[in-house]
Amino acid sequence: MTTVTATAPAALIAGQFRFFRAEVARVRPLGPGMVRITLYGADLRDFAGGGRDQSFSLFLPHPGQEEPLVPIEAGAGWFAGWRALDPQVRAVMRSYTVRAQRPEAGEVDVDFALHGLTGPASRWAGRARGGERVVLLGPAVADNRSVGFRPAPSADWTLLAGDESALPAIGAILAGLPAGAPVRAWIEVSRLADMQALPTCADAEVTWLFRDAGGTSRLAGALRTARWPAGTPYAWLAGECGVVRDLRRHLVNDRGVPRRSITFSGYWRRGASEEDLRAEAAD
Ligand SMILES: Cc1cc2nc3c(=O)[nH]c(=O)nc-3n(C[C@H](O)[C@H](O)[C@H](O)COP(=O)(O)OP(=O)(O)OC[C@H]3O[C@@H](n4cnc5c(N)ncnc54)[C@H](O)[C@@H]3O)c2cc1C
Repeated sequence: MTTVTATAPAALIAGQFRFFRAEVARVRPLGPGMVRITLYGADLRDFAGGGRDQSFSLFLPHPGQEEPLVPIEAGAGWFAGWRALDPQVRAVMRSYTVRAQRPEAGEVDVDFALHGLTGPASRWAGRARGGERVVLLGPAVADNRSVGFRPAPSADWTLLAGDESALPAIGAILAGLPAGAPVRAWIEVSRLADMQALPTCADAEVTWLFRDAGGTSRLAGALRTARWPAGTPYAWLAGECGVVRDLRRHLVNDRGVPRRSITFSGYWRRGASEEDLRAEAAD
């Protein structure tokens, strides 16, 4: 299965994305495993988020740096310029989702799964303080390639499934669905205290799942045994690559969901950093 990153390196050329400078405005823990960081920047008034699962590339400084090092001035050549820099010095680049956005205030909320200290982004988020500087490579137009949630008009209902990394997208998708839209969502987190209220006007039934003590996912098992509403769903799946692969197989092979009715994204892979995944995709 292919994994995705928020923005393709050539994205600037396509005119769909641009760089935005921002800083941390507020930090709010959402539970032991998740933190909401509100980014502020005058630039972010023009951040043309398309809602739903709108993602972007976030550039973070290394400890001790005042700001992330990104060769913005190189324009379309930024990626080659960034790649040529020493990995110990160049900004950490990771994919994240817009959980909410207030353009008039120049604010974007980003929810980070705190999965431990091995990941530089998770580590940064766990320690972030007001005023810290970041850079975003995000949408210059609302209809852009980093919005994946695109339901088939023929779908009878919407199926959402994912882990903490997908929770911000699921929350934003639910917030934007029309009143009464039928939705079933399965969301897996580590513990009870990481459940969140997910306001929506949709007719949504959300099932929360908790990984077992060994960290094994229960998502695929839960979907296998669930009674589904009648009709054909549009399915949106995201999270750990192996889990997403299992979910998709089940939908296609056992439930007969047409492949074209499924949007699926490996948001991370056990044992591999986003850098590893990017290098693999480039080979
Ligand atoms: C389009 C897109 C949107 C995304 N949106 C969000 C979002 O809004 N919020 C969010 O939290 N994540 C989101 N992710 C996932 C996030 O980009 C990855 O989790 C990323 O690897 C985190 O970077 P890191 O520096 O913390 O860890 P890395 O340096 O990339 O990885 C270090 C280690 O941590 C492991 N790891 C990485 N992520 C997780 C995880 N979530 N749980 C457990 N172990 C992990 C890796 O397997 C690796 O062993 C998104 C990913 C994509 C592609």
